[in-house]
Amino acid sequence: MALDTIEPSDGGAEPTLGFDPDALRAKYRQERDRRLRPDANGQYVETTGDFRRYVDDPYVEPGFTRAPLTDSVDVVVIGGGFGGLMAAARLREAGVRDIRIIEKGGDFGGAWYWNRYPGAQCDIESYIYLPLLEETGFIPKEKYSFAAEIRAHARRIGEKFDLYKDACFQTQISALKWLEDEKRWLVTTNRDDQVKARYVVMSSGPLNRPKLPGIPGIERFKGHSFHTSRWDYAYTGGNSNGNLEKLADKRVAIIGTGATAIQCVPHLGRGAKHLYVFQRTPSSVDVRGNRPTDPDWVKSLTPGWQKARMDNFNILVTGGRQDVDLVSDGWTDIIRNLVSKAQFRDGPMLAPEELARQLELADFRKMNQIRARVAAIVEDSKSAEALKPWYRQFCKRPTFSDDYLPTFNRPNVTLVDTQGRGVDRVTETGLVFDGVDYPVDCIIFATGFEVGTAYTRRAGFEVYGRGGQTLTDYWSGGLKTLHGFYSAGFPNCFHMGLTQNAFTTNFPHMLDEQARHISEVIVHAGQRQAQTLEPTAEAEAAWGQAIEDNALMNLQYRIDCTPGYYNGEGRAGDGAGLFDGLYGPGPVVFYDLVRAWRADGMMAGLAFG
Ligand code: NDP
Repeated sequence: MALDTIEPSDGGAEPTLGFDPDALRAKYRQERDRRLRPDANGQYVETTGDFRRYVDDPYVEPGFTRAPLTDSVDVVVIGGGFGGLMAAARLREAGVRDIRIIEKGGDFGGAWYWNRYPGAQCDIESYIYLPLLEETGFIPKEKYSFAAEIRAHARRIGEKFDLYKDACFQTQISALKWLEDEKRWLVTTNRDDQVKARYVVMSSGPLNRPKLPGIPGIERFKGHSFHTSRWDYAYTGGNSNGNLEKLADKRVAIIGTGATAIQCVPHLGRGAKHLYVFQRTPSSVDVRGNRPTDPDWVKSLTPGWQKARMDNFNILVTGGRQDVDLVSDGWTDIIRNLVSKAQFRDGPMLAPEELARQLELADFRKMNQIRARVAAIVEDSKSAEALKPWYRQFCKRPTFSDDYLPTFNRPNVTLVDTQGRGVDRVTETGLVFDGVDYPVDCIIFATGFEVGTAYTRRAGFEVYGRGGQTLTDYWSGGLKTLHGFYSAGFPNCFHMGLTQNAFTTNFPHMLDEQARHISEVIVHAGQRQAQTLEPTAEAEAAWGQAIEDNALMNLQYRIDCTPGYYNGEGRAGDGAGLFDGLYGPGPVVFYDLVRAWRADGMMAGLAFG
């Protein structure tokens, strides 16, 4: 009996729904419970030691060397992804010339430098996802850009803002040390650089460190293997557009079915002799509907259009009202579906419990649609059943693809559904699940990135603040910041990304707001002729309290979710999930708050020395 067609039961089900909420709730709980593991984040293997090769950069020629740098600059920006690029661009716009970007990859691009797997594509609309479009005069070719276009845009930003001349690529920070006498940071690197900087801006990315599953025997495999963020085109052939012609005689296994796998599995299905997709939890896969950019629409754009479009999207996807939905895609549709049916319908405001009930019902409806789409596309009923996701939509990253589900209709593609358990074992020649051997030539790990481990471990270096205190120690009991940007005892050091601030579905939007903030604060410090800035202990504590006061918002939702990196692998509230420690009222309120904080000129809570 399928849950989405269950007839209402006698007890409490709503006659008009066409499904039984109680039965769905029970099914979601059952699916969650069988995935909960005591080792939570500990189930993953760090890409160090014998696994180090999984993070080697396959996109550069080996043997790069250069002379060490021993100079001094105003600002060192760590990370050359969109965050670092935007920080540097906004600083340049504000007149700060002396900037150095240090980046471990061989070029700008960050996540888009590393993630070149076939089919990689932004899944937020490109007109709001690609930053600085008006500043660079670029319009993406399609509503959703593919990786090569996004990477080229990162390079375009680097050129436009003259950032290449001061960029250090293929360079990893070893440590940051605050020099109290000089009121500067000493930045050391694996290339023996000793660069001093008045300010450092850390933008190393929340999902930058690939992780591997701790499957017993993983080290024993003798065939070929790599992580999706270091795609080995020398082995597969082709490029990020696909055409993986070297796989024609290969049996390939891919482990993981998150947002990355959704995009590369169709290409693997086309290219491989045989593809085995090892699934632990299915993603929700909705319609993609990509299309070329309409030249008439481009002609209609007026200055300020990109910021307006970003704001419009951000307000809509956080449940606010707008007269028009400019982006109008799967994301705004999700929220329209959830919110309009509940919060903004005509009539009096709903009581919180009724609102929660309505939101849950709207979620059930949406996920029923997602499950019905699987059944309509996937011909083999057993595979179709296994590909249906049983959780609330935002328990996992929603995905969008018109090619993923049809891949399972190919005769050379097998779905190995591990029923929430994961692969049992890796052997020298392949994988084992439920007593069945799957011999393969190649294993591709689409198993994501570290979340919830120490910030400094993910960044890859330690930060020594005043008196030699390490950031690892200072944050060992949880993040301590003012507005997510800076910490007491670590003067002139800014953080970008997800640190006690607000999450924005369109990540580059968030990075741009942060970049503007940092640049304004640095300019303000210059105007005051301040040598140092850092939050007072009181301001930091007050912000921590504001975060804590809102920590319960949505906590139950995340506790009830199937495990994943959104909820610390089933430990929501413990501080290891992506959404733990963020500002509960959301990005619209947060950006207004920090904008007003800057605008009044006092920058309360920040001590300038
Ligand atoms: P995820 O962490 O989302 O997915 C990892 C996958 O590996 C999950 O399906 C997980 O299953 C599975 N897995 C882990 N361990 C095992 C095991 N032992 N056996 C079998 N399967 C296992 O990583 P992704 O790289 O897919 O995505 C990371 C994030 O990057 C996304 O959530 C998104 O934010 C971003 N992204 C954005 C894209 C875009 O904008 N276009 C595209 C791709 C990624 P389980 O769910 O059970 O844990």
